[in-house]
Amino acid sequence: MMKIGIVGLGLIGGSLGLDLTNQGYDVMGVSRQLKTCNLAIEKKIVKDASTDFKILGQTDLIFICTPIAQILPSIEKIIKYLSRETIITDVGSVKGEIVDHATQLWQNFVGSHPMAGTANQGIEAAESHLFDHTSCVITPLPQTSRDAMDKVTTIWRSLGCKVYKTTPEIHDQAVAWISHLPVMISANLINSCVNNDNEEVVKLAKKLASSGFRDTSRVGGGNAELGLMMAQYNREKILSCLKEYQENLTIIIDNIEQKKWPELETILTKTQEERPNFIL
Ligand code: NAP
Repeated sequence: MMKIGIVGLGLIGGSLGLDLTNQGYDVMGVSRQLKTCNLAIEKKIVKDASTDFKILGQTDLIFICTPIAQILPSIEKIIKYLSRETIITDVGSVKGEIVDHATQLWQNFVGSHPMAGTANQGIEAAESHLFDHTSCVITPLPQTSRDAMDKVTTIWRSLGCKVYKTTPEIHDQAVAWISHLPVMISANLINSCVNNDNEEVVKLAKKLASSGFRDTSRVGGGNAELGLMMAQYNREKILSCLKEYQENLTIIIDNIEQKKWPELETILTKTQEERPNFIL
């Protein structure tokens, strides 16, 4: 059975560790803090863990599950301990900034992005079956080894994911639309409500806000670090989405200003029809 390594024992790395350990793999973990490593052993998330990358020496497949900014530096640090056959994958939410560089550092690299998560962070947030009935995108390059791609696909499928394959470019554009843009729109909604000049209105609005506001504000009221990371690492794609969004918003504003009700109704009818195609 393959020996597996996980770097970054947080929500995603810890959850992966739990499921893979339960499947019978020997899982070796590396994390920044010693107390996280000890907790991972105690909770049977991994067989063994250390802050020293040397522990990954005998592994066949490694998942890099650190924050995005630490993915490439982690690969740079581990490769001297690995045999050429070891496959490295990552779980970063952005692929363009990662995959080319990572492949230059390590030929046997395949980019992954599991579309799973919760609002929580760190090892305490790790949970089993997090990936069950979710999607995972893999983003191989033309030169990526077929064997590495197949092994990474097989393991994600074993965790319960439906695996999609595309380029880093298309991946980043798609997640900009359905994940990164909603964070900015939702954050701007909260920001605009709070910045309203009329204090009495804001006070009452806070009391009245209910399920509609809960749904539309959820992703904008979450982890600020994650939102910032999306803007920094998927900057171009998120900017193009925001600009297209702005153009469409101008049309809606114009329809309301000019009382073009049939035009507005056409838009709202179309969005009502389309939503089920995104959310099953
Ligand atoms: P997280 O809960 O904060 O876990 C990341 C963990 O990495 C931290 O708990 C930290 O552990 C460890 N770490 C930080 N720097 C490190 C380093 N230099 N070397 C080794 N370990 C280090 O974050 P997450 O939500 O699991 O996200 C991890 C990755 O998954 C990110 O790249 C993100 O883009 C991706 N992702 C997240 C989601 C989501 O919804 N959260 C979904 C899909 C993909 P200690 O400091 O405790 O040791």
